[in-house]
Amino acid sequence: MRTTTLTAECPARLLADVTLRPRILQTNEDCYDVLPNQITSATPETKSRMKALLLTDYKQLEVTDFEKPGVEANDVLVKVRACGICGSDIHGYDGSSGRRIPPLVMGHEAAGVVEEVGSNVRDFKPGDHVTFDSTVSCGHCSFCRAGDINLCDNRMVLGVSCGEYRRHGAFAEYVAVPQNICYRLPNELPFEHAALIEAVSIAVHAANRTPVSLGDTAVVVGSGMIGLLVIQAIRLAGCSRLIAVDLDENRLRIAKELGADECLKADTVDVVEEVRKITNGRGADVTLEVVGATPTVRTAIEAARKGGSITLVGNLAPNVEVPLQSIVTRELSVYGSCASCGEYPACIDLLEREAIRVEPLITAKASLDQGPEWFARLYAGEAGAMKVVIDPTL
Ligand SMILES: [Zn+2]
Ligand SMILES: [Zn+2]
Repeated sequence: MRTTTLTAECPARLLADVTLRPRILQTNEDCYDVLPNQITSATPETKSRMKALLLTDYKQLEVTDFEKPGVEANDVLVKVRACGICGSDIHGYDGSSGRRIPPLVMGHEAAGVVEEVGSNVRDFKPGDHVTFDSTVSCGHCSFCRAGDINLCDNRMVLGVSCGEYRRHGAFAEYVAVPQNICYRLPNELPFEHAALIEAVSIAVHAANRTPVSLGDTAVVVGSGMIGLLVIQAIRLAGCSRLIAVDLDENRLRIAKELGADECLKADTVDVVEEVRKITNGRGADVTLEVVGATPTVRTAIEAARKGGSITLVGNLAPNVEVPLQSIVTRELSVYGSCASCGEYPACIDLLEREAIRVEPLITAKASLDQGPEWFARLYAGEAGAMKVVIDPTL
């Protein structure tokens, strides 16, 4: 990671730096440490082979012959038709996040066709189109039982290995997932759109965490992959005026296409001042931060009106500095938002009806064999690149 000297007068400098690589903003699907359990293992009878994109060492990906996952009683074996490369995969790829320890098959944003089901599975059958949550929740801890599956005590994330567990993901011909995280898809929904449901669910969850009244003004700080989905979700939640913030002209152009009323380029204007101008000096009712760094968090806080709220979605930096007095004396409410809990059916519906659009976010569709090259390109910060979706059947 490059370092840039940051001054209070020029907070956009750091934003430029953190968005430099990767261009895809990191989502927050794997920000918790979890306890190991239910790692799938092949039973001797079902053991066979498949093609998978294996991280053999940091920055080293190989398409290899890999053990096909076994199907436990509660498992659904999915033939993968689409799996998105996530910002967190790019971050993990060089070892910097500590969440992709080789050897590992990454990939947690996927969709495909049911190939086989375990003996306890009643709701899915071979041939069904499905997607699944990136979070493998246990279903029996107090948080799961209260419906807060994203806060599960035994949470594991597909395609992650962090020292405590290794759970192979969906950059492979097949992946086995427990039935409780699976959702049936309409057959008409293209697989590459369905692979973005995980990202859509993060945006919809963030909108659900934000207290919105019809007619509110929202500022979305960061217009990368997740930010562009947040813009669409927060409008559906009732915000009638949307202000998108980023450094990248291309992203702001897409933000406009997807419904942003105003687009502010953070290195050319004073974002907080512009937001005040647009809102008659008041500030935004709600702001959503989708980067996760000190300058952008500060922008989100200062752009909010007195008594307003800030929803924090980005988590690039583990620690950021916040203007405490601005939060206290203006009585701001700060919400964290992680992954999703229960939003998948709504997201599938929103995508099917194109109330949330994902096709402008898809940069390329690629085969497993093209995976290593795309990882290298995204890691190098390829200009204009957003979501690359891998289809192992290509
Ligand atoms: Zn992700
Ligand atoms: Zn649980």
